[in-house]
Amino acid sequence: MENIDEAQKKSLNFIEAFVEQDLKDGKNDGRIQTRFPPEPNGYLHIGHAKAICLDFGIAENYGGACNLRFDDTNPVKEDVEYVDSIQEDIQWLGYKWKDVYYASDYFQQLWDLAIELIKQGKAYVDEQSAETIAKQKGTPTIPGTESPYRNRPIEENLELFKKMNTGEVPEGAMVLRAKIDMASPNMHFRDPLMYRVINSHPHHRTGWTWKAYPMYDYAHGQSDYFEGVTHSLCTLEFEVHRPLYDWFIDQFKDSDYRPRQIEFNRLNITYTVMSKRKMLQLVQEGLVSGWDDPRMPTICGLRRRGYSPESIHNFIDKIGYTKFEAMNDVGLLEHSVRESLNKTATRVNAVLDPVKLIITNYPEDQVDMLETVNNPEDESAGTRTLAFSKELYIERDDFMEDAPKKYFRMTPGQEVRLKSAYIVKCTGCKKDAEGNVEEIYCEYDLQTKSGMPESNRKVKGTLHWVSAAHCLSAEVRLYDRLFSVENPSADERDFRDLLNPNSLRVLNDCKVEVSLGDAKPLDQFQFQRIGYFNVDLDSTSDKLIFNRTASLKDSWAKEQGK
Ligand code: ATP
Ligand code: MG
Repeated sequence: MENIDEAQKKSLNFIEAFVEQDLKDGKNDGRIQTRFPPEPNGYLHIGHAKAICLDFGIAENYGGACNLRFDDTNPVKEDVEYVDSIQEDIQWLGYKWKDVYYASDYFQQLWDLAIELIKQGKAYVDEQSAETIAKQKGTPTIPGTESPYRNRPIEENLELFKKMNTGEVPEGAMVLRAKIDMASPNMHFRDPLMYRVINSHPHHRTGWTWKAYPMYDYAHGQSDYFEGVTHSLCTLEFEVHRPLYDWFIDQFKDSDYRPRQIEFNRLNITYTVMSKRKMLQLVQEGLVSGWDDPRMPTICGLRRRGYSPESIHNFIDKIGYTKFEAMNDVGLLEHSVRESLNKTATRVNAVLDPVKLIITNYPEDQVDMLETVNNPEDESAGTRTLAFSKELYIERDDFMEDAPKKYFRMTPGQEVRLKSAYIVKCTGCKKDAEGNVEEIYCEYDLQTKSGMPESNRKVKGTLHWVSAAHCLSAEVRLYDRLFSVENPSADERDFRDLLNPNSLRVLNDCKVEVSLGDAKPLDQFQFQRIGYFNVDLDSTSDKLIFNRTASLKDSWAKEQGK
């Protein structure tokens, strides 16, 4: 009880509380070492960010070290492209690993220990098919069936195991299994596989040297042990594997040191999928533009979308670490990016669906340079000037010819403020033969400019605008949720049939203020009254492209009653 109270005082999560207790108990000579162990078979996603923040965060908070370990034990799906992207994404999140390791570095050591286990009569080569082995597993209440190969002589096991690695044994024909207990109530103890044969693919680091590859349960714990990991943090589905993790450690342990596996809940987010396999399918089938498509929940997708590392950290802090699987609202992720960009993003003017506004009483060739604040949330961001002239663009839906009472935007006879500029009064519009508005007319009041006597006069509506002679054309990509159902993974239908058909809308003729001509890819802005946008990686000075990171309206905060 005392521990829980203490933990709550410092508001530690349960893993930090375990770590503190281990330190207090003098375990592992007070050393703290963690690892982040991705399999290089895809790009990292926001779920991995949750594991990264924990693995690196624990090491940082307790003066320990966190290593990056590539869990590269399946050559069929792995590639250096993924190794590189994983390193880039971790660094972008702001973390530094102490060392980089590869499970493949341990292939020889793992092999030697497997030989040792065979010699002790604790492992055997099984020649049954995967299906037969699966059928013999039994159920949690019905014991499994022992393989007819279980008790073959040690010498034979040694000979066959070596053959598994020379290429003489076809894939699937033999496996090495630990000889534990086919009647164990823990299914993972029913003679788990330790090695399988893969001879159709070279390994991205070891080439054709190995054809027998270690399985997760064996390789992972031993790799932790070889490296001196003290806390091996992983997701809840591995909880049932923990006794086996400990069993393998016990077979080889030669000192007081031992790694401790602790499990936490996976991150799941609504309206997306969080599995590398499914993401790979989306990429390969061209359903998204790539791993970094701004609609993807990958770290590189979020980066391209305009998420800052800070926004991801804030999100991860908010959801926390527990022992219960849950589904997190994507609205909370969006809320976090707004919160972060609100502090940092320069406010600019962009008109997504432009229509001309002509100020009939404004001098023909006059240009006013109006001072505007870059970010009201950050005084140090300073000010800039905006060109104001007789012809402007405003949003088409900021005008209505016959407006209802509470329409506080542009409508004949009504005053509105043009942001950072003057109060204008609408006088009418010109329409084409079909009734589409071509131009809107208004008159401005010089006295309402900032610093002038009536600058503080109140009007209900404020509109953003750009000067027609001082703006640039741009493409704006409006993103929405990638899937149209909350939990595509729990749906009976194929997840690819559940994609949101409106997840990307491209606007080709938007008008943005000239200052955006200098913007660099990934620069972040708030388009006033619209949302947060960033410069896409494909953007050039000839063709500006912006991505919508998030709209301004925070429906999540509203739901929470904020
Ligand atoms: P996927 O199912 O997407 O392929 P994985 O678990 O196979 O994911 P790994 O590369 O093995 O991916 O994961 C590396 C680390 O990240 C592991 O420790 C794993 O537990 C953790 N991790 C993966 N997905 C999530 C998630 N959604 N939430 C939290 N941690 C995760
Ligand atoms: Mg995995």
